[in-house]
Amino acid sequence: MLALLLWSALQPLPGLVDAVTGTVPAGADLVRPTAYTVLAPLSNVLDALTFLSVQRAKAFLTVWVVALALWGGLRRGTLGRRLARALLGPLAIVLLGVGAVLLPRPVPSLVTADSGVTVIDYHAHTAASHDGRPGWRAQDLAAWHAAQGFQASYVTDHNVIFNQPVDDPIRLLPGVEWSVYAQHVVALGAVAPIDRGVYNRDTRAMLGLFAELHRQGALGLASLPEYWEHHWGDLTAFVAAGVDGFEIVNCAPRAIGFPASLRAQVLQLAAQHDLLVVGASDNHGWGKVTCVWNLSSPSAHGYAANHVIARPIALAQGDWDAWTAAYTQPWLMLRSLSWSERSSWITWILVILIYRAVPRRTGDSAGIGILARSLELFKVRRPPG
Ligand SMILES: [Zn+2]
Repeated sequence: MLALLLWSALQPLPGLVDAVTGTVPAGADLVRPTAYTVLAPLSNVLDALTFLSVQRAKAFLTVWVVALALWGGLRRGTLGRRLARALLGPLAIVLLGVGAVLLPRPVPSLVTADSGVTVIDYHAHTAASHDGRPGWRAQDLAAWHAAQGFQASYVTDHNVIFNQPVDDPIRLLPGVEWSVYAQHVVALGAVAPIDRGVYNRDTRAMLGLFAELHRQGALGLASLPEYWEHHWGDLTAFVAAGVDGFEIVNCAPRAIGFPASLRAQVLQLAAQHDLLVVGASDNHGWGKVTCVWNLSSPSAHGYAANHVIARPIALAQGDWDAWTAAYTQPWLMLRSLSWSERSSWITWILVILIYRAVPRRTGDSAGIGILARSLELFKVRRPPG
């Protein structure tokens, strides 16, 4: 483990990259709370599990569950011990997965040096969505965003218009995610109800939604993964119909595997037509961390108006085959560590190594107190009597 930590430091990945240029963004940084860094081995593993695509999550889980079960079962010991070990390893992996989705914990936050930009999310859900976490209120969503450095977020529930006045701790903005003919259209701004049946007939009818949104004074963005999976051949028709922009990063497990080569094609199209490109947390109340932030400049227009800042491990999901996830995900995680995180990992490993290395005499109880025993050597012995 120590060797891997040092080896991965030779091929470091930055904490954040600009999803358009691939470069390290100037003036934006990821700040990790002290508790996050102290618990870095747990924090980093839970983050890395959150940023798995669906296929990679399945492969990761299968390989690790089988490997740990075999390792536990084939080690020497009584049958009972071997069975217990063969069950405990897989159970730990499953519990980590559940922890990544549910466990409250400190999270990294994006800070920017430029006060002229707004850190914003364009696409997130509450319990009003059919697949939102039960009880996930707008206030919970706002707090989730605020903890990660967002200053505003659109709320885009599935076919339910959001229009609650929430200003604290961040401002929530009105929007909706319309499902029409195998496409999700993220509508931003003062949206009004529509008759979805009108837009559900075919691709041509679906594209009419963009004009309707413009009539309402709203913007319409094409969401991932739907345009990638169902309408890849229609993208120029999207542009002709007036789409205002494309999602190029979306943290949802179904969408995070969007391949870099396809992202490059969408970027070219958006640049040609001066369209917005955005990142979306697509948070549904599950998972504690976002893989993407947007730096929005109100003074700029179209393609230049928004910068998409992402975690490199999220952008890499589309670059690696699913079956490699069991080793590529840990490797991407280790390469992404900051030096303070790496120091935390090394400290934990050394503490465990020392603990295991101190021999226990008969009668000594187990526990971390064993580390203090060697200190007794320095105690001044009182002369008897
Ligand atoms: Zn969504």
